[in-house]
Amino acid sequence: MNKTQIEAYKKKLLELKQQILNDSYTRDTEDLKISTDDLADEADIAASVINQQVSFGLRDRNFAKLRQIEDALYRVNSGTYGLCDECEEPISEKRLERQPFATLCITHAEELEREQRGRIAV
Ligand SMILES: [Zn+2]
Repeated sequence: MNKTQIEAYKKKLLELKQQILNDSYTRDTEDLKISTDDLADEADIAASVINQQVSFGLRDRNFAKLRQIEDALYRVNSGTYGLCDECEEPISEKRLERQPFATLCITHAEELEREQRGRIAV
């Protein structure tokens, strides 16, 4: 991968990062609104708890993604961007187009996914 390509991915990563940060900011403000509402009865409380759990879940996912993005940006700086964590082979550009923060080649990403799915099943 040449320098121009890496710069393009870096730009994408920074944009993604900004998107997530804007996103969580908006959601935090919405959460605040929910918590200041008067909760009339138990049904309302239950609904509010569910809402909170959903937004926590989203925040966790965003947080995980943010970490991946930070990691990828670190790789850009250290010159290892686009290489698989496991086998150090270049990650396909098609994959990086869709997931510029990918740290594993498709083979190892699928392997990890299978492992994780297996763990949940057990
Ligand atoms: Zn690999």
